[in-house]
Amino acid sequence: MVFVILGEFTTFDFMPGIPAPFNFGLAILSNQKMLTLWEKLQTAPPLLPMLVEGQPFIDAQDELSVTDFMRKYGMPERINDEVFIAMAKALDFIDPDKLSMTVVLTAMNRFLNEDDGLQMAFLDGNQPDRLCKPMVDYIEARGGQVLTKAAVKEIVTNDDGSVKHLLMRSGEKIEADEYISAMPVDVMKRFVPKAWSTMPHFRQMDELEGIPVINIHMWFDKKLTSVDHLCFSRSPLLSVYADMSTTCKEYYDENKSMLELVFAPCSPIAGGKTNWIGKSDEEIIDATMGELARLFPTEIAQDGSKAKLLKYAVVRTPRSVYAAIPGRNKYRPSQKTPIPNFTLAGDWTSQKFLGSMEGAVLAGKLAAEVVADRAVGIESKPLKEIHQTVMAKSSTWKEAEPAGVKGDGPIAWGAGSDNNAGARKQLAESDPEQLVDTGAIPVLR
Ligand SMILES: Cc1cc2nc3c(=O)[nH]c(=O)nc-3n(C[C@H](O)[C@H](O)[C@H](O)COP(=O)(O)OP(=O)(O)OC[C@H]3O[C@@H](n4cnc5c(N)ncnc54)[C@H](O)[C@@H]3O)c2cc1C
Repeated sequence: MVFVILGEFTTFDFMPGIPAPFNFGLAILSNQKMLTLWEKLQTAPPLLPMLVEGQPFIDAQDELSVTDFMRKYGMPERINDEVFIAMAKALDFIDPDKLSMTVVLTAMNRFLNEDDGLQMAFLDGNQPDRLCKPMVDYIEARGGQVLTKAAVKEIVTNDDGSVKHLLMRSGEKIEADEYISAMPVDVMKRFVPKAWSTMPHFRQMDELEGIPVINIHMWFDKKLTSVDHLCFSRSPLLSVYADMSTTCKEYYDENKSMLELVFAPCSPIAGGKTNWIGKSDEEIIDATMGELARLFPTEIAQDGSKAKLLKYAVVRTPRSVYAAIPGRNKYRPSQKTPIPNFTLAGDWTSQKFLGSMEGAVLAGKLAAEVVADRAVGIESKPLKEIHQTVMAKSSTWKEAEPAGVKGDGPIAWGAGSDNNAGARKQLAESDPEQLVDTGAIPVLR
């Protein structure tokens, strides 16, 4: 793991050949720049139960924020500033006082239990070509078909509540034996058919909500000091970043840097004071330059008088991964649903990894298991139990038609967009609350 401190990089090095958890311990002990020996020693005891008790201990911490956990177990406050702010923003784009401790422990548990639990890697090129195309080729080679730009408008049900067909925005109807939704939670909530609208399995989704995040691409006229790695910025506004001109083959350049940065927290629900999603690109870039000038004072100045910014793109994703604030894990639904021909997937459904690409893949595998088991008549795992706090609200539920998705473009479907692709226009159509300049953003229903 690489952290940036005033233009310098400091690392927690996991030494090859040393088994977990000793490689994790050594990585912490050998870093001399971030924590004193006494602070390191104070950090270890609260984490020991995780080694002994494993997953039950990790799950039980979901009701506590990272800050609550630190105070409960007497961890030194400086660990928050030095490590947890960067970690929380990298894992869920929110600050440690908002993030569930389960998320941090889930990541740390990998470091403690797997010799190569910490691995970071970059694609060697752009995602459509290097990630999506091979998957599409694989499916097509086996007789499958992948349709893009084909939005589902409505899930149409039979009298018994099972899915009859999907009504597409094009007006086409798609009938199938099995239906799997991998839509983001904020979109799925808008699709729940009237017949399912008072079912606890779907109502528990009310407790989950995507977190806003901004992703920034910046092209500079010179090569900045960089490392071939993901960097934790330890800045109030920036999360992780990488110099793609160093880390990624397709963008490799020895003379000019291209930074890709995650800007977080970017709204009050993520712990920030400002709703940056509602701000202009220029305001966001100005704030980012200010943060970069603080991190790299010899190379970058906020007024652009040092390295010159040649161009930029600001990508807003107003509803990204589900907000892993305390107490949310219990509301993540199982892939199996009460509907006999409908299964859920997506990183937000119940699986042991976080809201991440890895989590999305695992959820997909679990969804495939449900469908495969059903196909051969095996009774698959039971539905995940619904928590009593969901059931306590059941008297207030009323049957309702699905809200549906308003507008078009990536933002409407839970993804991100830059202003060249009309991000602000898309937001105004599909999620106008996000453009309100300050204040908490209301939960979508
Ligand atoms: C800025 C940023 C940085 C990230 N960095 C990392 C990282 O470094 N590592 C990591 O592991 N994860 C990272 N993530 C998280 C990761 O991108 C997500 O966890 C992952 O993409 C979730 O996958 P998914 O398949 O569940 O959902 P998504 O990727 O959101 O896919 C849902 C799909 O459903 C489609 N859809 C929605 N509605 C409809 C409809 N009605 N009809 C048809 N299609 C529809 C959408 O268009 C979309 O393609 C990052 C996320 C963001 C925003």
